Amino acid sequence: MKIHNFNAGPSILPKQVIQQSAKSVINYNKTGLSLLEISHRSNHFIEIIEKTTSLVKRVMNLNEEYSILFLQGGATLQFTMVPYNLMKNKAAYLDTGIWANKAIKEAKNFGKVKILFSGKENNYSFISKNYKIPNQVDYFHCTSNNTIVGTQMNFFPKTSIPIVCDMSSDIFSRKLNFCQFSLIYASAQKNVSSAGMTIVIIKKKILDKIKKKIPSYLDYKIHIKNNSILNTPNVFSIYTSMLTLEWIEKKGGLSILEIENKKKSQLLYEEIDRNNFFENKIQKKDRSNMNVTFFLKKKYLENEFNNMCKKENIVGLKGHRSFGGYRASIYNALPLESVQFLIEKMKKFEKKFS
Ligand SMILES: *Cc1c(COP(=O)(O)O)cnc(C)c1O
Repeated sequence: MKIHNFNAGPSILPKQVIQQSAKSVINYNKTGLSLLEISHRSNHFIEIIEKTTSLVKRVMNLNEEYSILFLQGGATLQFTMVPYNLMKNKAAYLDTGIWANKAIKEAKNFGKVKILFSGKENNYSFISKNYKIPNQVDYFHCTSNNTIVGTQMNFFPKTSIPIVCDMSSDIFSRKLNFCQFSLIYASAQKNVSSAGMTIVIIKKKILDKIKKKIPSYLDYKIHIKNNSILNTPNVFSIYTSMLTLEWIEKKGGLSILEIENKKKSQLLYEEIDRNNFFENKIQKKDRSNMNVTFFLKKKYLENEFNNMCKKENIVGLKGHRSFGGYRASIYNALPLESVQFLIEKMKKFEKKFS
């Protein structure tokens, strides 16, 4: 039975990746042991984590200035770790949605937060480019893709201030000059792997500025020194990330994925704009290629649409509880056919109720 999985996170992963990690949970690399039964300090696992690290660097085309960490606590812990490690007095944030808002709330525990733009009053329906990063801030924080309402940044400011970016829902989905960022973090469960692991990419030299004592688990420098094995890491999620990164490389890398992702989202937005029964509330220039949100214009048809989706094995379309409506998350692993299938059903729905 074919299922079309539009879940926002945890979400769809490449089928081969799931199959291979399931195999390795039974018998890792013909060792006769499960991946879950081997030491995180064994050569087996060291090989996995080293390979994953070099894959991240290769796929993102990062230079030697960067360290790659695989931490726990989700992107949510990064909302605290970033200011703990980087803020002396003041930082600048973009408020482009609920996740950005949560990051701002935590940063306020460590100093002054200057909000350069907030989309709150406009239901986060666009992202401004009209802001100036003040010279005195310790860093500038942004969220590249707003998973909940479906906006995505397609412009990052040129600045000498370190840029910190939460890429949880669009990491590995497009090609960017990643060396413009000083710190990137992304929880794995949207586009990479299983939940419970966060990839953190740091330009080492930005960590020299703060002298205060930081609790060990929250200190990036200590994680760098320990190669992400300060304590027992999420071995399964790291292994599965390695498989996904291999899949990405085999496909031809981020530029190929970007083309595929744009194609999928464009088709879906075109249908939403054309179809008389649906609408998208995001300014066109800022629409996300990862999370496509839409609303039924006639709310009383919601049950009909939900039932149709259920019958057709279309899952995960329910919008975030704070935003309502529908959200089709179309991450890397979601095939074009699933988007085409959804579009076909939206057309059929329009015909039936016109
Ligand atoms: C999902 C998400 C988070 C939260 O991730 P957790 O791993 O649950 O902490 C943070 N930021 C963005 C942009 C997200 O999409």
